[in-house]
Order: sequence, then structure tokens, then C-alpha cells
Amino acid sequence: MTDGEAMRRWLCFLLILGLAVIPIQASDAPKYVALTFDDGPNGRFTKNLLDGLEQRGICATFFLSGYRVEQFPQLAKRIAQQGNEIGNHGYSHKLFTKLTPEGVCADLSRSAEAIREATGQEPTLLRPPGGLFDAEILKNIPCANLPIILWSVDPMDWCCKDAATIAKRVTSKVKDGDIILMHDMSESSVEAAFRIIDTLELQGYEFVTVSELAWMCGTRMENGVPYYRFSKKASISLRVADTEPWTKPGFPPPLPFSAVFSSRVSSRRSPSKAPMA
Ligand code: ZN
Repeated sequence: MTDGEAMRRWLCFLLILGLAVIPIQASDAPKYVALTFDDGPNGRFTKNLLDGLEQRGICATFFLSGYRVEQFPQLAKRIAQQGNEIGNHGYSHKLFTKLTPEGVCADLSRSAEAIREATGQEPTLLRPPGGLFDAEILKNIPCANLPIILWSVDPMDWCCKDAATIAKRVTSKVKDGDIILMHDMSESSVEAAFRIIDTLELQGYEFVTVSELAWMCGTRMENGVPYYRFSKKASISLRVADTEPWTKPGFPPPLPFSAVFSSRVSSRRSPSKAPMA
């Protein structure tokens, strides 16, 4: 065999190997993203969003504003009842960087109280309005004692009225482990969210809450620490692909896994290996 033939055979082998391996990796490795909605509930648009999420069997994370929760307690309640995760976005949407530490504490406490009153649940996460905060100040405020969730994909939906454009801004750049920032404050945002879900699901993405995303990526979130996205750790990605961890005692883990997500995961397992109710 000449050197040229040997090289051609070697290249052929690599090509065949690539074709065989790439589809397996693409279809076998689950990709997870979290949709987050800020500033609601909104009396005009949140209901449509919840209807669409429910139809698609998806849970998102809502960073609620306390004054709106007081205006629309039934919507806040439905957000929780559908299994969505709830974060505290402050009561008045005043920027934390313009408040004193006492002011931040009062704003967060009042919002948490409104959320508790309407939903019967404690907020599990914190997103400061505008994503602006002083980490040192927040660390020393007991009422801000939650993981701080920022974002890695921002389609600027609040200033765009075209759903297709908003959706494209997300689907063209999203990656496994991303946190997507949106607002349930306009029809175009809600429509864009549905387009994003429908497009990315076809690409093998699953939509989970922020705490679920952290867990799927092997991160145990800490209070007072900001998170922008989560990177999957090798050991966890293997565990997720495997059926065994889901059957072990103590699973689901002590994190707020939504019933919707648990049932979606269970439905992918064989009945004998799916003990989750
Ligand atoms: Zn906001």
C-alpha cells in the first residue's frame, strides 16, 4: 500500500467514525436550559404564558415583583400550582444599588411576604431588579439569603415587539446550561417564549427550572452567590444519561424538582425503573 492509499484509508476511517459517533452523542446527551420570566405576574399576558407552558408540559422560573403579586394573587398562585419555580425580584422593582442595605432588606421581605401569602411558598431564588447589586452588601443581609440568579442569554424582549426576532436572538446562541432572561410583560415576549420552546425542543433541549438546571449540571447552589449559567460536570452528565440514579433511595434529591419535570423524566424510563410518583 502506498503512503497516499494509507492516508486515504485513515481519513475514510476517521470520517466513518465521526459519522457514527456524532449522532449518538447528539441524541443521547440531554441538553437543558431554563426559561426565566421577570417582573410579573402581568394581568394581561401571564395567563396566556401559563396556558402555553401547561400545554407543552414545561416549567419555568418566575422572578415575581411583590407589588404585582398583590395585584394578581390568583396568577401568582397558578404559577406555583403549575410547578414553576418562584424567585424574589423585590417588591417595588427599585434598583438595589439605589437603596440602603435596610431598604433592600425591607423591599425583599415585603415581596417574600406577598409571595408567601399568595402562593403558600417561599421564594427559592433571588434576582435583583436589573441584575444590579453589591455582592458584599447582599451577603450581609439575612433577608437576601438566597442564590442570586442572573442570566447568560438576554434577547432584550422588553424593547422588541417582534416575536420572531426575540426568538431568533435566543435560538441562535443558546447552549446547554444557559439561563434565558425574559419578561411576561408583552404579547410578543409570550409568543417568542413559545417559539423558543418549540424550536429548541426539536433540537433536543429540555426546559427545566433554575434549581433543576443547577442540579442537572452538578451544582449545589449557595446563598449569596451569583450564577449566570451552569456548566455540566462530566460525572453528572453520565449520571443523567444513566437510569440507575433515578431509582436509588433518596431520589429525587432535596431540591425543588417540579412534578412536571419528574413525570417527564419518569416517562423516559422503563416502568420497572421509574419509581417516582
Ligand atoms: Zn425586572
